[in-house]
Amino acid sequence: MDRDTIFAQASGAGTAALAVLRLSGPAAGAILRALAGTLPPPRRAVLRRLRDARGTVLDHALVLWLPGPASYSGEDSAELHLHGGRAVVAAVTEALLAAGARPAEAGEFTRRAFLNGKLDLVEAEAVADLVAAETEAQRRQALRQLEGALGDLYRGWSERLLVLMAREEALIDFPDEDLPAEIAAEAAAERDALAGAIAAHLADGRRGERLREGLVFAIAGPPNVGKSSLMNALAGRDVAIVAATPGTTRDALEARVVLGGVPVTLVDTAGLRETADPIEAEGVRRARERAREADLVIAMATAGDRAGALEVKAGAAAIRVANKTDLGGAVPAGAIGLSLRTGAGMAELRAALDAAARRLTGQSGPPPLTRARHRAALLEAAAALARAGTAPLAELRAEDLRQALRALGRITGAVGVEDVLDRIFAAFCIGK
Ligand code: GDP
Repeated sequence: MDRDTIFAQASGAGTAALAVLRLSGPAAGAILRALAGTLPPPRRAVLRRLRDARGTVLDHALVLWLPGPASYSGEDSAELHLHGGRAVVAAVTEALLAAGARPAEAGEFTRRAFLNGKLDLVEAEAVADLVAAETEAQRRQALRQLEGALGDLYRGWSERLLVLMAREEALIDFPDEDLPAEIAAEAAAERDALAGAIAAHLADGRRGERLREGLVFAIAGPPNVGKSSLMNALAGRDVAIVAATPGTTRDALEARVVLGGVPVTLVDTAGLRETADPIEAEGVRRARERAREADLVIAMATAGDRAGALEVKAGAAAIRVANKTDLGGAVPAGAIGLSLRTGAGMAELRAALDAAARRLTGQSGPPPLTRARHRAALLEAAAALARAGTAPLAELRAEDLRQALRALGRITGAVGVEDVLDRIFAAFCIGK
C-alpha cells in the first residue's frame, strides 16, 4: 500500500477561491516535476504553471515541495494550491492520475503519518476531532490531545507497568517465602497506585466523551408551561410550534445550540400527561425516554405550580424553571423564575445552562478520556491489574501485567494494532 503515491483535495468541496490538492508517496517528487517543470526548493511556496503531459497549461498554482521525512505523512509530499474552479481541479486531477498517482482513501495521509511514526493513534484521533470540531471547547480538547497530553498520560502508565512487570519477572525464580516482605509490599503499593490512577481517569463522568459527542438537554414539564417557547428562545428560531392548546408539541423536537462552548442538542418533549390520543401517547413515551437519557433535564412548570414536579431520574442533573412569572405566581425555592413573555430571568437561566454544560464536560483539570475505544482498553488494563493483585505466583502476576500493558499499548498504537487501524482511519475524511 505504501508504495503508491496518493493524492486528494484537502480543501472543502464546492467552489472557493482556492482548492488545495495534496500528494504523498515515493513518486511525489517525480509527479510534481512532471506537472510543474522542476522541483521548487523544499518548504518554499513558489508560483508555477502546471501542465499536462502534452504541455497544455492547466493553471497557475502555488506549489509546495515537502520532502520526507519532515512532512505530515513522513513521506515525500507536495501541495498544489489551485484556483478553486471545479474544472481546474478536474483537469489537474486528470494530470495527476495520468502521472501515476491514485486517489487517497479516507484518512490515508494520517494513516501513513502513524505508520511512519509521525504521530501516535491518540494524536491521529485528535486530528479527526480537530477537523470535526464545531465549538471552542471541542477545539481546545482536540488540540490538547494532538499535543500529546493524553498519549503522554497513557505512555506514563505503560512505563510504570513495564517496571512492575520486569520486577515480577525477576522474582519468578525466587520462591515467595524467600522474598523480603518489603519488596512484595512495595510492588503491591505501586500496583494499587496505578490502579487508582486508572480508576480515577475512568470515573470522570464521561467528560471528554461528552464534549466530543455533545450533550443532550431535555426540556420537560406538563403541557402549556412554555417548553416550546423556551426551545425557540434558546435556539433563536422557530423550531417548535407554540400554541395555546395543551398537547400541541406532539413529538420530541430537537435543535443544536452551543452552551458554555459545548454543542448541545435541546430536546423539547411533548407535554408529559396521560392521554387517550395514540399519536400523542407515543410522543409522551418518547419524551419520557429522552428525558431519562438526557445529560440534563430542564424541568419546567408554571410559576405558582409545583415547579419541576416531574420524574427527574434520581442523580440526573436538573435545572428547575418556573415560567410565566409575569402572571404573578410564586417561584418555589431552588427554581429559576422566568418569563418568556418579558424576558425576565432569561440571563440567569442561560448562565445556569452554560455552567451546567461546562461542568458536565469538565473543561479544566487533567486531560479527560475522549473515546469509547480508550475506555474499553483502560477497563481491560484495570481488570488485568486487579487480577495481578490477587495472583499468588510471580509468573501469573507477570502475565496479568503483560496483558494490562498490551491493553494500554493498543490505545496509543504501541502494540499490535493492525485490526483497529481500518476502523479508526475509515472515520476520517478524504484528504486527511
Ligand atoms: P409547551 O406546551 O410547554 O411547549 O408550551 P408553549 O411554549 O407552547 O406555550 C404555551 C402557551 O404559553 C403559549 O400560548 C405561549 O405563548 C404561552 N407562554 C409561554 N411563555 C410564557 C410566559 O412567560 N408568560 C405568559 N404569560 N405566557 C407564556
